[in-house]
Amino acid sequence: MPAERLVIIGGVAAGMSAATRARRLRPDLEITVLEKGGDVSYGACGLPFYLSGEVQNPDDLVVYTADYFREKRGIIVLLRHEAAQIEPGRKLVHALKERSQPVTIPYDKLIIATGGAPATNIPGADLPGVFTSNDLAGAIRLRKFLEEKRPQRAVIVGSGYIGLEVADAFSKRGLEITLVGRSAGIFEGFAPEICARAEETLASHSIRVVKSAAVKSISGVPNSGELFVHHDSGSESAGVVVLATGIKPQTALAEPAGARLGPTGAIAVDNRMQTSINSIYAAGDCVESRHLVSGKPVYFPLGTTANKQGRVAGENAAGGHATFEGIVGTLATKVFGIEFARTGLSFEDARAGGFHPDSVAIETLAHAKYLGGARLTAVLVWDRSSGRLLGFQVTSPEGGAKRIDAAAVALHARLSIADIPSLDLSYAPPFAGVWEALLIAAKEAVNKSRRR
Ligand SMILES: Cc1cc2nc3c(=O)[nH]c(=O)nc-3n(C[C@H](O)[C@H](O)[C@H](O)COP(=O)(O)OP(=O)(O)OC[C@H]3O[C@@H](n4cnc5c(N)ncnc54)[C@H](O)[C@@H]3O)c2cc1C
Repeated sequence: MPAERLVIIGGVAAGMSAATRARRLRPDLEITVLEKGGDVSYGACGLPFYLSGEVQNPDDLVVYTADYFREKRGIIVLLRHEAAQIEPGRKLVHALKERSQPVTIPYDKLIIATGGAPATNIPGADLPGVFTSNDLAGAIRLRKFLEEKRPQRAVIVGSGYIGLEVADAFSKRGLEITLVGRSAGIFEGFAPEICARAEETLASHSIRVVKSAAVKSISGVPNSGELFVHHDSGSESAGVVVLATGIKPQTALAEPAGARLGPTGAIAVDNRMQTSINSIYAAGDCVESRHLVSGKPVYFPLGTTANKQGRVAGENAAGGHATFEGIVGTLATKVFGIEFARTGLSFEDARAGGFHPDSVAIETLAHAKYLGGARLTAVLVWDRSSGRLLGFQVTSPEGGAKRIDAAAVALHARLSIADIPSLDLSYAPPFAGVWEALLIAAKEAVNKSRRR
């Protein structure tokens, strides 16, 4: 009897996690991964460190090569194979090898792990000197450009965490940087107290920030290498432009095949990562997730989620039973030496989600005063009706991620603010004050609710 066939489209975080899990459970399965690019299993999260030069060799970002998967795990990896169409009725994937040669691959189970694509339709985005930074090949092209053309000035469009990480990387290369963002504050989704710290940090590194400025177009001066970024309130000139305007889910294969999209526009899946089409699963940046605090579908594309979802999709496609229940929206970044992290809902998200939110902002020290006492700002959001913790955000030169992970666990456990002050969180002078930031914020929240 021929082996059962699992085909996976997309070979990065979600796709290769799925392949690995399926192989572990089913040595007999024929597993084929189609990847339109030339790399698999690399850490896109490390791209800013390659741009800065902290990571010298792009191969260092590759966790396992295609050859490793072929030789050690018996997985067929077809690089430069772009899936063009799925025929669920006949269980076929039609692909193009090297952009020209048609190939048809039959499947018994299929996993779509096509990720996201840069969300940009700005006229001029295709000019030389304008880049996105969402995949390894693109980052290699960008760094080559920086090293060969040596531009002095950069405009980064987008003031989310990726825009800031690119700004940090470029600053380490000595570029003069302007960050142009559409929203009124940088770091959309963070509380004003945290955004203010981010703006202070950028100002102290001479990064110019233009806020509330939607970019309309980009133009170039022929043969000079000079670019102009035109936005609501003027134009910025630069030798290099990076578009970090977020990503949108890649649904171009799934939707025509009949897979239902959710309200966010990403592929809708159940808690087994099954799409609305029989035998087809999906995982990673192409799907939406359930937010475990609001209970609503959200599009929150992150590598940590893609890996977990891929593992679940791989297990189920291999005949097992695994579930992925959702996320609490945990994100951490470190830019210009300062950590910024959030989990759960912001005040605005909570209100939009039908809660009756309240919040406190605190200032404390990341560790004991006699060890330097780095300044820490945190914001805690809770529901006034139930006392339930809804969200936590923090910024500090160190220890931000430690606090955010504790808060994320509290959100998963649906703790109330009254539960938190007595949690046995770690304390020693290098890590915290005797009263840890999350505990202080929860105590203040409890006091504030009593005063109401
Ligand atoms: C600069 C940067 C920094 C980041 N930092 C972090 C971080 O610190 N923490 C974190 O959790 N996340 C981070 N992320 C996000 C994380 O990298 C992504 O969430 C993760 O890579 C998603 O994995 P994925 O497998 O779903 O999709 P992708 O990584 O997008 O991979 C999808 C793959 O599918 C392939 N593909 C698409 N369509 C087809 C097709 N038709 N046929 C064949 N192949 C196809 C693509 O070529 C691609 O290789 C960062 C992302 C970037 C860009």
